[in-house]
Amino acid sequence: MARKLVLIVVDGMTPAAFERAVEGGRAPALALLAAHGSYRRATSVFPSLTPVCLSSIATGSTPAVHHIPHLVWWHRDERRIVEYGSSFSALRAAGMAQSIADTIYNMNAEHLSRDAETIFETLENEGLVTAAVNITCYRGHTKHLPTLPWVTKAAYGPKRFFYYSLFESDRTGAPLAVRNRAAGSIDVYAAAVGRWLVTRDGFDMLAYYLSDFDYASHAYGPEGAEDVALERTDAAIQALIDSAGGADGFFERYAVVLLSDHGQTQVSRAAPLEAPLAAHADSIVVAASNRAGQVYLLPDARVDAPTIAHALDSEPSVDVTLWREGADAVARREREELRFRPHDDGWETSGDTSILDHPDALHRAWQALANPNAGEVLVSAAPDWEFVDLGGRHHAGGGSHGSLVEGDSIVPVVTVGLDADIERITDIAPALIGHASQAAAV
Ligand SMILES: [Zn+2]
Repeated sequence: MARKLVLIVVDGMTPAAFERAVEGGRAPALALLAAHGSYRRATSVFPSLTPVCLSSIATGSTPAVHHIPHLVWWHRDERRIVEYGSSFSALRAAGMAQSIADTIYNMNAEHLSRDAETIFETLENEGLVTAAVNITCYRGHTKHLPTLPWVTKAAYGPKRFFYYSLFESDRTGAPLAVRNRAAGSIDVYAAAVGRWLVTRDGFDMLAYYLSDFDYASHAYGPEGAEDVALERTDAAIQALIDSAGGADGFFERYAVVLLSDHGQTQVSRAAPLEAPLAAHADSIVVAASNRAGQVYLLPDARVDAPTIAHALDSEPSVDVTLWREGADAVARREREELRFRPHDDGWETSGDTSILDHPDALHRAWQALANPNAGEVLVSAAPDWEFVDLGGRHHAGGGSHGSLVEGDSIVPVVTVGLDADIERITDIAPALIGHASQAAAV
């Protein structure tokens, strides 16, 4: 019989962390997956920020298609900031009630384009049962009411839907997710739900999202996270394996894909992206957080995209600025420019191609710029720098991500029992769907 599917997403785990974990014997569950499967590195999307990345993983499409542009963005039609949780202060600055509604409901119900089908929608259209644990891109066909009596708005997710104790399609006895974030209570919740689902073999495809590693990496840096959170992350994966009666039972029943959504790099400095653009404040909205920024031109703006990019020329926090000019995209770095546009299977370029020497950079930059919710100017942060968020917060002294640089952009991918060519995180959903349709044909 063809195997069912388990997709495990470990937020923010770098390939180096994964490789050390497997070799160092500190992560037996990760080592078990690596020993039974094949391992490679893949590239994330730009900006390499979780809402953008998880939407790309869950839909198999780029930001140009799924329309989620960043952790924070300017909603042109509603003339307001959307903030998915850069920090508690940023949520408060954007309006707490609005931000919570945007993060829990609107990201899926309104912001995520209908042109991008989620893996939950696709597989359930084929008659399969899908399950989601904590993944923020969850859109599905089944209406779920919240567990809290004073919250009454429904969300539409997969048949088996578990979201931070707020939505629970089944009573699993899992402890509350948000008891103690820093101590790993979110992944403890995920593990309890995962145990329940695997014990009952209650799905054809499970998306299992573990967020605590990224949280620790922001606080302690990408290497510090290995001491703080790696063993807990591993335990949450081990819980799935144990619930199937051990490795033999688990791999007999499931094909597995494990990856992270983006990397992380150490940052020691933070700057407000608004500061060098203060002269244009009446004409623009700046949305920045972590290691990526966006500048939106208001309808009556008295400034254009190249002028904004030039104004950022001497800003040490800025690595690359990007914008569209007609049929071209332009990348600017150290006062040099590269113009590019898709051509056949590759790119037509003019200028210095070393400006975009980051992984898969032309593709990622082009797809980010083609997102209708993106700013007119996109900014990728320089190594070691972060942009201060709306609430004035940053992670200097810890880790961050979001830029085009390699450390933020490359992720580890392990597949067990599933043959697929995976070079980008957008290759994951097609690989899972391909496996499921082969299984259906058997
Ligand atoms: Zn993060």
